[in-house]
Amino acid sequence: MVRKHVTGPFVLPVRDIVHRPGEMREHSLDVPSPAKWGEGLVSVVEGEPVAVDVRLESVHEGILASGSVDTEYTGICGRCLIDIAEPLEVEFQELFAYPGQEETDFEVQDDHVDLETLVREAVVLALPFQPVCQPDCPGLDPATGERLADRPGYEQRAPVDPRWAALQDFTTDHDDEAPRSRG
Ligand SMILES: [Zn+2]
Repeated sequence: MVRKHVTGPFVLPVRDIVHRPGEMREHSLDVPSPAKWGEGLVSVVEGEPVAVDVRLESVHEGILASGSVDTEYTGICGRCLIDIAEPLEVEFQELFAYPGQEETDFEVQDDHVDLETLVREAVVLALPFQPVCQPDCPGLDPATGERLADRPGYEQRAPVDPRWAALQDFTTDHDDEAPRSRG
């Protein structure tokens, strides 16, 4: 049998806590995503920084990994197709069983655990299926294809996300000279 050598950006050693229930170690990783994660309108692109804080706890059956992932997804708004980039934080918990136990998805290999599949699955499941640039994005004008949120006056009807307010102050300066109906 060929001895499997465990390598990768999300591989952590657990030799010092293996078969020592109650022992735990905490690790922080900050590595680039090794591939594009997600196939929908938004994804975590290859090379995007992925920060993982994880606690590895030795339990009777194996190593329990629990923690959180911080990264950013990019793509397009599902309504108006504008480019978007949003932070993503997701938590995970999974048991890495010792070899020879009942069928499991994750296994302690050669005194290491590889968090990559676990982290990737947690991130992909957390990606929005219908991402939007803002919660009330009005989408596109069906006749002209114009982005409705860009229309002068739109911001007067909709609540403004504080993150966009500064941008709108800037972009609407030029509208001051435009004629306005005042009832
Ligand atoms: Zn939008």
